[in-house]
Amino acid sequence: LRMVSAQPIAGEPVSDEELRPHVLDGFIGQPRLKAQLQLFLDAARKREVPPDHILLAGPPGLGKTTLAMIVANELGVPIRVTSGPAIQHAGDLASILSSLDAGEVLFIDEIHRLPRAAEELLYIAMEDFRVDVMVGKGPGASSIPLTLPRFTVIGATTREGMLPSPLRARFGFTAHLDFYPHEELEKLVTRSASVLGLPLDDGSAHELAVRSRGTPRIANRLLRRVRDWAVVHDLASVGPADVREALALYQIDTEGLDRLDIAVLDAIVRSFDGGPVGLNNLAAMVGEESETVETVCEPYLVREGFLVRTPKGRVATRKAWEHLGLEPRERADG
Ligand code: ADP
Repeated sequence: LRMVSAQPIAGEPVSDEELRPHVLDGFIGQPRLKAQLQLFLDAARKREVPPDHILLAGPPGLGKTTLAMIVANELGVPIRVTSGPAIQHAGDLASILSSLDAGEVLFIDEIHRLPRAAEELLYIAMEDFRVDVMVGKGPGASSIPLTLPRFTVIGATTREGMLPSPLRARFGFTAHLDFYPHEELEKLVTRSASVLGLPLDDGSAHELAVRSRGTPRIANRLLRRVRDWAVVHDLASVGPADVREALALYQIDTEGLDRLDIAVLDAIVRSFDGGPVGLNNLAAMVGEESETVETVCEPYLVREGFLVRTPKGRVATRKAWEHLGLEPRERADG
């Protein structure tokens, strides 16, 4: 269980709910996306038709599910929630589609993980608002074409490139979510703290924001751990030093790096003199699976400029050496 994982950890989605904004105005940051979406929704409302299908693309924890719920709420329509992996057969999707009411929003999380047959059924339904329902089994089975009322699909994906182009082409609006700058995460933390009834002193939101890896889900998670700290220490309000102490307990440093990230950088710098080092050697050195190092640690380290991947292997940057308190290229043994 990694505190700085952008994926939800077990049991967390429930507590996530209370921190979700319900209207577009309450959604922090992403100003261009919000303006586009506002226009898109206003136009649909004015024309009195359900809006075109929407694709939300971007890394986990940046607000895709939240936005889908906001869209349904702003339109005043119900939302049905499913996901690519939850749909095992095209028939599962057919039955969901055939039960949708006019104007309803169908949210499909991880839409890139739909089985192929379901994908095909979906893009026909999105385009023509019809679905073929299979009746009966075996040689006597037949398919009945069913006309659907107009509805709006909102797809969310962390891997836009994995969506087949016929499906991608059915979305009238595609939004790309980006990591949040510190100022926006500060606002988000401030908002969440007030929802949780946790008074924050000046500077506390900043201390949380810089450790949150540009990711609202992580910011909210860290904030809850800081709340634990405040509860246990009977604090009337939380100061920046409380945030630092509480998160140091979880071994999260000023750049949002945790124990494993630091172990990776430390191994490259101290054991391999800054690199290049192959992934497998590196993973062995820190006692993790190569895949964990590659998919869990590296993306953030690369994004933040601590590490580069070269054809010869991983190399620690100047920023990594400095973050570890070392002179770049200073020999670990001398
Ligand atoms: P995703 O679906 O992209 O994985 P979620 O929509 O589930 O992410 O967001 C994770 C958490 O972060 C939720 O608690 C959500 O309310 C919060 N959150 C995400 N983006 C924002 C935002 N822009 N403003 C306020 N809260 C946000």
